[in-house]
Amino acid sequence: MADNNQLLQAPRGTYDALPEEQKYWRFIKKKFNKRCENFNFSRIDTPFFEYANLFTRSIGETSDIVSKEMFYLAKRGEGEPDLVLRPEGTAGIVRAYIEHGMQNLPKPVKLYYFGPMFRYSRPQSGRFRQFFQLGFEIFGEDDPCSDVLAILLSFSILKDLKLTSNIILEINSLGCKICQKDIRKTLTSYFNQYKEYLCPECFSRLAENPLRILDCKQQRCQSLVKSGPQIVDHLCQDCKEHLQKVLEGLDELGITYDLNPSLVRGLDYYTRTVFEFRDKADETRQSSLGGGGRYDNLVEQYGGPATPAVGFAAGVERIISKLKEYQVKIPQVKKLDVFLIQIGDKAKKKVITLARDLTDQGFSFNCCLGKDSLKSQLRSADKFGATIALIIGQREALDDSVILRNMLTSSQQTVKINKLENILKKQLLKAKQASEQKNN
Ligand SMILES: [Zn+2]
Ligand SMILES: [Zn+2]
Repeated sequence: MADNNQLLQAPRGTYDALPEEQKYWRFIKKKFNKRCENFNFSRIDTPFFEYANLFTRSIGETSDIVSKEMFYLAKRGEGEPDLVLRPEGTAGIVRAYIEHGMQNLPKPVKLYYFGPMFRYSRPQSGRFRQFFQLGFEIFGEDDPCSDVLAILLSFSILKDLKLTSNIILEINSLGCKICQKDIRKTLTSYFNQYKEYLCPECFSRLAENPLRILDCKQQRCQSLVKSGPQIVDHLCQDCKEHLQKVLEGLDELGITYDLNPSLVRGLDYYTRTVFEFRDKADETRQSSLGGGGRYDNLVEQYGGPATPAVGFAAGVERIISKLKEYQVKIPQVKKLDVFLIQIGDKAKKKVITLARDLTDQGFSFNCCLGKDSLKSQLRSADKFGATIALIIGQREALDDSVILRNMLTSSQQTVKINKLENILKKQLLKAKQASEQKNN
């Protein structure tokens, strides 16, 4: 049973995005959507929950996400398949791609998404059990230039969010179906010699997926990794050339990168290119600002036609904390245009019709219908940051006029309501220009 204290707390690992935080969300969504649309991506929204085996098959049974972090939903009936809250976005989109026959669409098929993901992980700073991801997928192209395009879009999104001066792109290749087998074999036989030095987690990873040892954060594993075989040296000729062309493409764009031979990105489905954006200042390599990679086998593995693909995803909370850390200037949410002040019963009614007309005309308004005195309502107008106050008293209510008060200059004039729209437009424009000048 929940006690009273629990009722007054957001569940562990979750948070409220309060009104004062919304400017960050608006900023990120706006920049992200705009970039994706300019790259001619289409928005897709898939369910927040899916059948569990969608993830166990793609992300890998042994990954942390599947083995420890899945949010299972309670079963309602006998024989129902397991449902889980989605821990990431790609699997659901691949499922939708096949289910809706998107392979018949003109290629490449380019999709983007923004929404909550769920992982039952130990909450720590910057990590939540319900968190938001933005991301995109490109289906149907195996050309290395498609990887470059994916990295370019990711980079451009981060550039629009004014974060690129503080980040570094890390890149690696995990090889294809064929050479990845050799790579796993090579790594297994190498780490087998030093089994007893591995951390307990890596000890069990050794049998399941030796690739995952490469990005273990434990010092003891890291020093083994450093002196061990490098994936790059064991890539097949095609994979080597693929990586080479991706790097050339990045050079062409002037996007600098670090080749990080131990970058693997904890999901099983990646092939060839993997990449990640990391804060330059972060030595611990804990704070990825997003990453992605190629997954050429996933669509086929789900039973769809063989379809190469590449994608990217980033955590929105992580981005917000970086925006704050680097004090990125976030454009203020639209200012309040008009505050409506009423004195007397007739005026109060008038305020409601005026509110209707003003919002129809595209103005924003606020009012305090519970207050009666001019003074206290003017104070409210000031607190809400209105540019203009419109005052309606008994007299104004009778002759269809208002007193227009410019809150910045305190100048007042009486205006007929049928002339109001134009005068408001002019005054608001002037106020906007004045504040822009002040900011520059
Ligand atoms: Zn290969
Ligand atoms: Zn380890």
